[in-house]
Amino acid sequence: MAFNPKITDMEVSDINDKTQLYQYVVTLNDKSKYRLFLSKNPEWNLQAANRLLNIPCPMCRKDYYCKCMDKHLDKLEAEFLTKIEAQA
Ligand SMILES: [Zn+2]
Repeated sequence: MAFNPKITDMEVSDINDKTQLYQYVVTLNDKSKYRLFLSKNPEWNLQAANRLLNIPCPMCRKDYYCKCMDKHLDKLEAEFLTKIEAQA
C-alpha cells in the first residue's frame, strides 16, 4: 500500500537561526505525530523524523519507537515543503 503522509497540523518547536536547524512537530492525517529535524541552507532538508508516542505506529502498530518513517522521509519532506510554502 502506498504511504502518502498528509500533514494536518504543524507547529514550530525549535528554531536556531545560527545553526540553521529547525524542529517542527507535525500531526498527520492518521493522527500520528512526529518531531521533524530540519536544516535550511537555503533549501529545507528533512534530516530525521521521530514519532511521538501519542498513538501506536500506523504502519507497524508498535507503541514504542520504530523506524517505519525512515523509509518515507522523502515523502514527508515533500509534504512539509508544500505546507511551509503555503504558510509563507
Ligand atoms: Zn512503525
